[in-house]
Amino acid sequence: MRFWPRKGDLTDRPPLVTCPICNMTFRSDKAAATAKRGSWIYYFCTEACLRQFEEDPARYAKG
Ligand SMILES: [Zn+2]
Repeated sequence: MRFWPRKGDLTDRPPLVTCPICNMTFRSDKAAATAKRGSWIYYFCTEACLRQFEEDPARYAKG
């Protein structure tokens, strides 16, 4: 029996994030755009979602 090095262990994976505009879940390193508001960082699946967020941040912002 042989032990293979384990690649892509759970701990190595970037966290999953959710686009606040369309609620799509994806890996944070695949985000097309990010925005920081206060202590929150928002991840967007497309730049169009970022633009929509910036038009009305209060509607989508947490807390
Ligand atoms: Zn989106």
